[in-house]
Amino acid sequence: MNNMQKPTQPIGSKDNPYDIVISGAGPAGLTAGIFAGRYKLKALICEKEEHPWSFPRGETLHNAKIFSQVLGDNVLNLISIHITAARKFNSPMVKNTVEVFRRTPSIVFEWNNFIELLKSRLLETATKIRTNSEVEELIYEDNKCCGIRLQNGEEIYAKSIIVADGHNSLIGKNFHIPYEKINFPIVKRIIRNFHGDYYGFEYFFLVPGMLNYAPRFPPAVIFVFPRNKEKCEVGMMIFADVAKKLKNSCDLPDEAEIMRVWNQLIATYPRFSDLMRNTEIEFEGFTYIGAGEIYNNPMPVPGVFLTGEAMGFIEKSGASGIASSMQIAKFAVDYIASKKSIYWSKSSAKSYSRTLKRTDFYHHIRKNAQKTQIQKYFFFQYLRTEEKINKKWNLVKALYKV
Ligand SMILES: Cc1cc2nc3c(=O)[nH]c(=O)nc-3n(C[C@H](O)[C@H](O)[C@H](O)COP(=O)(O)OP(=O)(O)OC[C@H]3O[C@@H](n4cnc5c(N)ncnc54)[C@H](O)[C@@H]3O)c2cc1C
Repeated sequence: MNNMQKPTQPIGSKDNPYDIVISGAGPAGLTAGIFAGRYKLKALICEKEEHPWSFPRGETLHNAKIFSQVLGDNVLNLISIHITAARKFNSPMVKNTVEVFRRTPSIVFEWNNFIELLKSRLLETATKIRTNSEVEELIYEDNKCCGIRLQNGEEIYAKSIIVADGHNSLIGKNFHIPYEKINFPIVKRIIRNFHGDYYGFEYFFLVPGMLNYAPRFPPAVIFVFPRNKEKCEVGMMIFADVAKKLKNSCDLPDEAEIMRVWNQLIATYPRFSDLMRNTEIEFEGFTYIGAGEIYNNPMPVPGVFLTGEAMGFIEKSGASGIASSMQIAKFAVDYIASKKSIYWSKSSAKSYSRTLKRTDFYHHIRKNAQKTQIQKYFFFQYLRTEEKINKKWNLVKALYKV
């Protein structure tokens, strides 16, 4: 190097920023990292956990183009542990049921295996992951976002930021994203020694006033997703949005109360308690899922791209967020890569938002959210009680079939 040459600054410094820094290494963050790498953009993923992915989130999906785009054709078959298109919905207190079949089956897998697949694709690129690196906030210079600050104070500079840190995003909180409207409480349990008598997915609906040990418990759904080797995923999601609307008849309980009721349901609820008998717990956890509203400003600051559950970008009908998180992450990176010189301004933020909202997948997620709202209104607010739902079950059944 001659004396006139400027020494190369380390990547991520002010004078040598990354093209993209990604907060979070879930499905959205890993997808963003994979595509950034494929475009030969200089990219880094910061993940807060030391052993990330220890809390298994979604473990079922329906095949979609994004999976072959990210992983390759038919790769999901490698990790599939159960496939089913069958669904059985049980009315409150299991007085009635209806069985339906989806056009596309659900594929069941283990979260770790899915994340490992994504990581293997990431390793084919030059994008790096840093674990133990919690992204705390964005850094600004001259009122422009130019990077992120980690919890330990370290600053990493980048031209674009992809926010993929999930339902509890610290960056999202700084933008006052209303997570209380987006997130619903959810309990998840993986069990062994499961001997169910139904190979499809089964759901049990709960409405306020039907449980004598929790009369003000909010509307909720219990799910039972069988898998191979006598294992099964079970859980319960609370419809927090409906609970707020029905505040005369129910409360939104805290984690301790939800877990108390969950354990009572496992012990006593018709049919569900029979299915749970003699099973052993492999994993159990309480968390939140972005099954409520979608935050509709996908670039709140020029150059900052919200993705996945950090903006509640989930298909609301089945609380499925894996495909949609990956789709929006890919879209963000495609968009960044399509810009020859990256200079983000307020007008480019508007243009990004407009372009995103014109895509088929965005349209699908929005439409699905509207449809789900109507279904929830009909079931939990219009019919509302255990008696009425059971009395009108034929109508409910007809709607499910449609
Ligand atoms: C119990 C449960 C069951 C579900 N079932 C399904 C299902 O069957 N099918 C389906 O499609 N979807 C399902 N989902 C939803 C799906 O898992 C999520 O929508 C999807 O994982 C969202 O991906 P994401 O990358 O946006 O966020 P996440 O998967 O949450 O990943 C976020 C990542 O960011 C990291 N992180 C968090 N904060 C920070 C920070 N400050 N700095 C750095 N890193 C950070 C986290 O450790 C995590 O690794 C389920 C979710 C839950 C909770």
